Amino acid sequence: MNLQPPQPIRSGTNNNVLRCPMVNCPFYCRSYCNYEGHLETRHFCIDCANYMPDSESHECHKPGQRMGYVDAGAKLDLTDFYEYSRSHGGSMISYKYKHSLNKPDIEATFAEVEPATSKLLKELYAIHTLSKVEISIGVQMEKEVIEENGSKGYKQALIYFKSLHHELETPASIHSILLQSASDIIEKKNTFVENGSGWNVQRIESFEIKLGEIRLFANSKASGHLQMPFKHRQGYTRFQEYNRWC
Ligand SMILES: [Zn+2]
Ligand SMILES: [Zn+2]
Repeated sequence: MNLQPPQPIRSGTNNNVLRCPMVNCPFYCRSYCNYEGHLETRHFCIDCANYMPDSESHECHKPGQRMGYVDAGAKLDLTDFYEYSRSHGGSMISYKYKHSLNKPDIEATFAEVEPATSKLLKELYAIHTLSKVEISIGVQMEKEVIEENGSKGYKQALIYFKSLHHELETPASIHSILLQSASDIIEKKNTFVENGSGWNVQRIESFEIKLGEIRLFANSKASGHLQMPFKHRQGYTRFQEYNRWC
Protein backbone atom coordinates (compact mmCIF):
# COMPACT_ATOMS: atom_id res chain seq x y z
CA MET A 1 0.00 0.00 0.00
CA ASN A 2 1.07 3.48 -0.73
CA LEU A 3 0.12 6.94 0.44
CA GLN A 4 1.36 8.65 -2.71
CA PRO A 5 -0.68 8.43 -5.89
CA PRO A 6 1.01 6.13 -8.40
CA GLN A 7 2.09 8.00 -11.51
CA PRO A 8 0.98 6.72 -14.91
CA ILE A 9 3.43 5.21 -17.38
CA ARG A 10 3.44 7.43 -20.43
CA SER A 11 3.97 6.08 -23.91
CA GLY A 12 3.13 6.88 -27.51
CA THR A 13 4.66 9.34 -29.89
CA ASN A 14 3.07 12.34 -28.27
CA ASN A 15 3.45 10.89 -24.83
CA ASN A 16 -0.28 10.82 -24.60
CA VAL A 17 -1.12 7.28 -23.60
CA LEU A 18 -1.28 6.89 -19.85
CA ARG A 19 -1.02 3.38 -18.48
CA CYS A 20 -1.87 2.39 -14.97
CA PRO A 21 1.36 1.22 -13.28
CA MET A 22 -0.41 -1.10 -10.85
CA VAL A 23 0.44 -4.81 -11.15
CA ASN A 24 -1.99 -6.73 -13.34
CA CYS A 25 -4.04 -3.67 -14.16
CA PRO A 26 -4.70 -3.33 -17.90
CA PHE A 27 -6.14 0.18 -17.70
CA TYR A 28 -4.94 2.92 -20.01
CA CYS A 29 -6.39 6.21 -21.21
CA ARG A 30 -5.44 9.50 -22.83
CA SER A 31 -6.31 12.08 -20.26
CA TYR A 32 -4.94 12.61 -16.80
CA CYS A 33 -8.44 13.31 -15.66
CA ASN A 34 -9.62 9.83 -16.63
CA TYR A 35 -6.52 8.36 -15.11
CA GLU A 36 -7.27 10.03 -11.79
CA GLY A 37 -10.83 8.78 -11.94
CA HIS A 38 -9.54 5.26 -12.47
CA LEU A 39 -7.18 5.57 -9.50
CA GLU A 40 -10.02 6.74 -7.31
CA THR A 41 -12.34 3.91 -8.24
CA ARG A 42 -9.94 0.99 -8.53
CA HIS A 43 -6.93 1.70 -6.38
CA PHE A 44 -7.81 4.13 -3.63
CA CYS A 45 -9.37 3.44 -0.25
CA ILE A 46 -11.18 6.41 1.19
CA ASP A 47 -11.05 4.94 4.72
CA CYS A 48 -7.29 4.63 5.10
CA ALA A 49 -6.33 6.98 2.24
CA ASN A 50 -3.95 4.43 0.72
CA TYR A 51 -3.40 3.26 -2.84
CA MET A 52 -3.36 -0.43 -3.52
CA PRO A 53 -3.33 -2.90 -6.44
CA ASP A 54 -7.04 -3.56 -6.12
CA SER A 55 -9.31 -1.69 -3.77
CA GLU A 56 -12.06 -4.27 -4.09
CA SER A 57 -10.02 -7.04 -2.50
CA HIS A 58 -8.50 -4.69 0.08
CA GLU A 59 -9.33 -5.40 3.71
CA CYS A 60 -9.19 -2.08 5.42
CA HIS A 61 -7.77 -1.77 8.91
CA LYS A 62 -9.34 1.63 9.36
CA PRO A 63 -12.93 1.07 8.31
CA GLY A 64 -15.20 4.07 8.56
CA GLN A 65 -12.39 6.49 9.32
CA ARG A 66 -12.68 8.27 5.98
CA MET A 67 -9.15 9.60 6.13
CA GLY A 68 -9.27 10.27 2.43
CA TYR A 69 -12.00 12.86 2.96
CA VAL A 70 -11.07 16.47 3.44
CA ASP A 71 -13.36 16.65 6.48
CA ALA A 72 -13.01 12.96 7.41
CA GLY A 73 -16.73 12.96 8.12
CA ALA A 74 -16.34 15.42 11.00
CA LYS A 75 -18.92 18.07 11.72
CA LEU A 76 -17.48 21.48 10.94
CA ASP A 77 -18.45 24.81 12.33
CA LEU A 78 -20.13 26.21 9.25
CA THR A 79 -21.17 29.59 10.63
CA ASP A 80 -19.58 31.53 7.81
CA PHE A 81 -19.21 29.00 5.00
CA TYR A 82 -21.32 26.26 3.50
CA GLU A 83 -20.22 23.19 1.64
CA TYR A 84 -20.55 24.09 -2.01
CA SER A 85 -19.30 20.99 -3.74
CA ARG A 86 -17.71 17.68 -2.93
CA SER A 87 -15.90 15.59 -5.48
CA HIS A 88 -13.51 12.69 -5.79
CA GLY A 89 -15.42 10.91 -3.06
CA GLY A 90 -14.94 13.74 -0.59
CA SER A 91 -11.22 14.09 -1.10
CA MET A 92 -11.87 17.49 -2.60
CA ILE A 93 -14.40 19.88 -1.12
CA SER A 94 -15.15 23.50 -1.77
CA TYR A 95 -16.69 25.89 0.70
CA LYS A 96 -18.44 29.09 -0.21
CA TYR A 97 -18.70 32.19 1.96
CA LYS A 98 -22.26 32.50 3.22
CA HIS A 99 -22.71 36.16 3.93
CA SER A 100 -23.11 38.84 1.35
CA LEU A 101 -19.93 40.49 0.24
CA ASN A 102 -20.39 44.18 -0.10
CA LYS A 103 -16.80 45.22 -0.50
CA PRO A 104 -15.88 47.04 -3.66
CA ASP A 105 -12.65 45.22 -4.44
CA ILE A 106 -10.65 42.06 -4.00
CA GLU A 107 -8.31 43.45 -1.34
CA ALA A 108 -11.17 44.56 0.90
CA THR A 109 -12.95 41.26 0.37
CA PHE A 110 -9.92 39.31 1.54
CA ALA A 111 -9.64 41.55 4.58
CA GLU A 112 -13.29 40.97 5.41
CA VAL A 113 -13.29 37.19 5.06
CA GLU A 114 -9.87 36.49 6.55
CA PRO A 115 -10.95 35.76 10.15
CA ALA A 116 -13.65 33.32 9.05
CA THR A 117 -11.42 31.75 6.42
CA SER A 118 -8.53 31.24 8.84
CA LYS A 119 -10.89 29.65 11.31
CA LEU A 120 -12.22 27.17 8.77
CA LEU A 121 -8.76 26.33 7.47
CA LYS A 122 -7.47 25.76 10.99
CA GLU A 123 -10.33 23.44 11.69
CA LEU A 124 -9.77 21.51 8.47
CA TYR A 125 -6.06 21.32 9.11
CA ALA A 126 -6.71 19.76 12.51
CA ILE A 127 -8.77 17.04 10.80
CA HIS A 128 -6.84 16.38 7.66
CA THR A 129 -3.39 17.97 8.07
CA LEU A 130 -1.69 18.36 4.72
CA SER A 131 -3.85 19.58 1.86
CA LYS A 132 -3.80 22.00 -1.00
CA VAL A 133 -5.82 25.16 -1.02
CA GLU A 134 -7.19 27.17 -3.88
CA ILE A 135 -9.15 30.39 -3.45
CA SER A 136 -11.57 31.58 -6.06
CA ILE A 137 -13.35 34.90 -6.26
CA GLY A 138 -16.32 35.59 -8.49
CA VAL A 139 -16.27 39.13 -9.82
CA GLN A 140 -19.14 40.77 -11.59
CA MET A 141 -17.61 42.83 -14.39
CA GLU A 142 -19.02 45.27 -16.82
CA LYS A 143 -17.90 47.04 -19.95
CA GLU A 144 -19.30 49.68 -22.17
CA VAL A 145 -20.20 48.59 -25.67
CA ILE A 146 -21.62 50.39 -28.65
CA GLU A 147 -24.79 48.77 -29.89
CA GLU A 148 -25.49 48.26 -33.59
CA ASN A 149 -27.70 51.33 -33.68
CA GLY A 150 -24.86 53.40 -32.26
CA SER A 151 -26.20 53.81 -28.75
CA LYS A 152 -24.23 52.95 -25.66
CA GLY A 153 -24.86 49.74 -23.84
CA TYR A 154 -23.29 47.58 -21.16
CA LYS A 155 -22.05 44.06 -21.31
CA GLN A 156 -21.74 42.06 -18.12
CA ALA A 157 -19.92 38.93 -17.16
CA LEU A 158 -19.31 37.02 -13.99
CA ILE A 159 -15.68 36.03 -13.99
CA TYR A 160 -13.91 33.70 -11.60
CA PHE A 161 -10.33 34.45 -10.67
CA LYS A 162 -8.48 31.67 -8.96
CA SER A 163 -5.36 31.61 -6.88
CA LEU A 164 -2.57 29.16 -7.47
CA HIS A 165 -2.61 26.03 -5.33
CA HIS A 166 -0.95 26.57 -2.00
CA GLU A 167 0.09 23.85 0.35
CA LEU A 168 -1.40 24.02 3.81
CA GLU A 169 1.48 22.63 5.84
CA THR A 170 1.02 24.24 9.23
CA PRO A 171 -1.69 26.41 10.78
CA ALA A 172 0.92 29.16 10.95
CA SER A 173 1.07 29.22 7.16
CA ILE A 174 -2.59 30.18 6.79
CA HIS A 175 -2.03 33.93 6.93
CA SER A 176 0.64 33.82 4.26
CA ILE A 177 -1.47 31.49 2.08
CA LEU A 178 -4.25 34.07 2.15
CA LEU A 179 -1.88 36.93 1.34
CA GLN A 180 -0.36 34.94 -1.47
CA SER A 181 -3.78 33.96 -2.83
CA ALA A 182 -4.96 37.56 -2.72
CA SER A 183 -1.91 38.57 -4.67
CA ASP A 184 -2.40 35.76 -7.22
CA ILE A 185 -5.97 36.80 -7.79
CA ILE A 186 -5.30 40.53 -7.99
CA GLU A 187 -2.56 39.90 -10.50
CA LYS A 188 -4.88 37.83 -12.66
CA LYS A 189 -7.63 40.38 -12.39
CA ASN A 190 -5.22 43.14 -13.41
CA THR A 191 -4.01 41.15 -16.39
CA PHE A 192 -7.58 40.52 -17.36
CA VAL A 193 -8.51 44.18 -17.12
CA GLU A 194 -5.43 45.23 -19.07
CA ASN A 195 -6.07 42.74 -21.84
CA GLY A 196 -9.82 42.69 -21.82
CA SER A 197 -10.49 46.07 -23.41
CA GLY A 198 -12.51 48.03 -20.97
CA TRP A 199 -13.81 45.63 -18.34
CA ASN A 200 -14.41 47.17 -14.91
CA VAL A 201 -15.05 45.55 -11.57
CA GLN A 202 -18.64 46.12 -10.57
CA ARG A 203 -18.84 44.10 -7.41
CA ILE A 204 -17.43 41.00 -5.72
CA GLU A 205 -19.93 38.22 -6.01
CA SER A 206 -18.47 35.21 -4.23
CA PHE A 207 -15.57 33.84 -2.25
CA GLU A 208 -14.72 30.15 -2.22
CA ILE A 209 -12.06 27.91 -0.77
CA LYS A 210 -11.31 24.61 -2.35
CA LEU A 211 -9.36 22.05 -0.37
CA GLY A 212 -8.10 18.73 -1.49
CA GLU A 213 -5.66 15.98 -1.19
CA ILE A 214 -2.34 17.09 -2.54
CA ARG A 215 -2.41 14.38 -5.17
CA LEU A 216 -5.56 15.82 -6.72
CA PHE A 217 -3.82 19.09 -7.38
CA ALA A 218 -0.62 17.48 -8.54
CA ASN A 219 -1.47 17.80 -12.18
CA SER A 220 -3.44 20.98 -12.14
CA LYS A 221 -2.45 21.66 -15.74
CA ALA A 222 -4.89 18.93 -16.63
CA SER A 223 -7.78 21.15 -15.62
CA GLY A 224 -8.98 23.00 -18.68
CA HIS A 225 -9.43 26.67 -19.09
CA LEU A 226 -11.78 28.27 -21.49
CA GLN A 227 -10.11 29.92 -24.46
CA MET A 228 -10.22 33.65 -24.15
CA PRO A 229 -10.15 36.01 -27.10
CA PHE A 230 -6.95 37.69 -25.96
CA LYS A 231 -3.41 36.86 -24.99
CA HIS A 232 -2.10 36.23 -21.48
CA ARG A 233 -4.96 34.03 -20.48
CA GLN A 234 -2.88 31.63 -18.44
CA GLY A 235 -5.31 29.87 -16.27
CA TYR A 236 -7.38 32.52 -14.70
CA THR A 237 -10.82 32.89 -16.08
CA ARG A 238 -13.42 30.36 -16.61
CA PHE A 239 -16.64 32.02 -17.52
CA GLN A 240 -19.22 30.40 -15.30
CA GLU A 241 -17.39 27.16 -15.55
CA TYR A 242 -16.30 27.09 -12.02
CA ASN A 243 -17.50 23.78 -10.80
CA ARG A 244 -15.98 21.70 -13.54
CA TRP A 245 -12.85 20.13 -12.30
CA CYS A 246 -11.61 18.26 -15.34
ZN1 LIG B 1 -5.20 0.51 -12.51
ZN1 LIG C 1 -8.27 0.97 3.50
